[in-house]
Amino acid sequence: MSGFTTRAVHAPFLKKDSHGALRMPVYDSVSFELETAEEIEEAFAGRRPRHTYTRITNPTVEHLEQKIKQITGAGGVVAVSSGMAAIANTILGIARQGENLVTTRSIFGNTYSLFERTLKPWGLETRYADFTRPETIEPLIDLNTRALFFETITNPQLEVADIGGLAALARRHKILLIADTTATPLYFFNSRDYGVDIEVLSSTKYVSGGATTVGGIIIDNGTYNWAQVPRLEQEAKQFGPFAFLMKLKREVYRNLGACLSPHNAYLQCLGLETLALRADRSCQNARALAEFLGRHRKVKKVNYPGLESSPHYDIATRLFGTRCGALVTFELSSRQECFAFLNGLKLLRRATNIHDNKTLALHPASTIFCEYPADLKRQMGVPETLIRLAVGIEDVEDLSADLAQALED
Ligand SMILES: *Cc1c(COP(=O)(O)O)cnc(C)c1O
Repeated sequence: MSGFTTRAVHAPFLKKDSHGALRMPVYDSVSFELETAEEIEEAFAGRRPRHTYTRITNPTVEHLEQKIKQITGAGGVVAVSSGMAAIANTILGIARQGENLVTTRSIFGNTYSLFERTLKPWGLETRYADFTRPETIEPLIDLNTRALFFETITNPQLEVADIGGLAALARRHKILLIADTTATPLYFFNSRDYGVDIEVLSSTKYVSGGATTVGGIIIDNGTYNWAQVPRLEQEAKQFGPFAFLMKLKREVYRNLGACLSPHNAYLQCLGLETLALRADRSCQNARALAEFLGRHRKVKKVNYPGLESSPHYDIATRLFGTRCGALVTFELSSRQECFAFLNGLKLLRRATNIHDNKTLALHPASTIFCEYPADLKRQMGVPETLIRLAVGIEDVEDLSADLAQALED
């Protein structure tokens, strides 16, 4: 099979464009007309795949889904309006009241908030283990556990779990393994090779191509037996391996209404074509900056899974090779020093987001994690002395020069 970028660039349309357009146009139309009442009936019954209404399907959004399906070899792909929508749709598609998920506290702050503040009052419990110590996971699993949920490189703790080990554990208990792979883009990490059943990612990040648009992707690797999920009992009988995708398309995704706009899908198709180039460059830059920070006398500690000093080095290099992501975190001696560093930056931007073309710096404890009390922030691996760099694709000498001058201030 051809390589990632070739497939990303040349993925064929499902249907030939009537003008022979080489790039899938933006179908900014809410609804689509069919010739006869019978055809509309067929389309609504799902017997004939036709576009009827953009909240349900749209040609430009479908093209993005198809591109990702062809690149990854997945069983099916659903594009949604944001990374959070990808996670919410997935969890609401597989779990119900009285059931639980097992995850870790080292997860994206809004995902934690979704689990604790939004889903818990509806009767869905979340249990927290340490995924870097698999022996802490098994005691939390019971007959109502539906899934293990984790991030491939946690943000901002930068932990890397042994994914093969997690997959074996999930298989043994017949539960689903869901990975948020935002930090390890499709290009260098194919989750299916390691036994992940469902992949969710924020396409706002690497896919969008320079932080142009918010979006999310759900990938069903086609590896899970859906008859094991009580909420999907009916769909598993009717649709077999497509049970989860049909549950989303015919119920959860349709009813939650978090569809991706056609214009955003267009920009994300474009971004996908250059993803490998950008990811290579940003990972290379991140490694160089991590090494630079490791040598700096003002820096107390650097975290980057690709540094030999990282406790996750062996697993990370086994899973991701030389590309250990574009996030680097480091600690200074105090919160005041962190703020002075941020205020002294001249090139790096003070902003939240990751995998932009620009390098962004942030103090996670006072921003993404501001709603949590100090002791919980420590438990979540977000001390007041931590700075996160989301490294971009600039010339690395310019980035290290800016870090150097801001650390001297
Ligand atoms: C940004 C992010 C999300 C949420 O994505 P949005 O597109 O902002 O909704 C989820 N998980 C991780 C790891 C992220 O970095």
